Amino acid sequence: MMKITPSNIASSECLFCKIVAGDIPANRVYEDQFCIGFPDINPQAPTHLLIIPKQHIASTAKAEAEHSPLLGSLMSAAAEIARKEKLHKGYRIVVNTGDDGGQTVNHLHLHLLGGRHMKWPPG
Ligand code: AMP
Repeated sequence: MMKITPSNIASSECLFCKIVAGDIPANRVYEDQFCIGFPDINPQAPTHLLIIPKQHIASTAKAEAEHSPLLGSLMSAAAEIARKEKLHKGYRIVVNTGDDGGQTVNHLHLHLLGGRHMKWPPG
């Protein structure tokens, strides 16, 4: 049974919780019982999708062992979406965490980036 902690209660102030609730529109290219996928509003690659859990978890820093199935489902969703998007040459999955990680929306999310060659190290 999932424990309810402050990090996973949907926040009325959370942008991505509003997208999950349908209060802010997003083109859901993917949806299952745990997560949704939709285009990033400010794409950094020809394909740039966000995959977010329906449940509010602020960041990976707030994820706990009990969230493992949910975190796994995000990765599986990203892989499935990448296949659907025909990113056969590869892609990058990014999870920004906290200020130093460049996180701007405090609801855990995966960026799925593809359609161009990625550089390393990232900026
Ligand atoms: P991060 O900086 O890793 O927290 O990523 C947050 C991402 O959310 C950014 O890439 C934004 O462009 C994106 N974003 C913000 N608002 C929206 C929105 N309404 N719909 C889609 N993407 C959004």
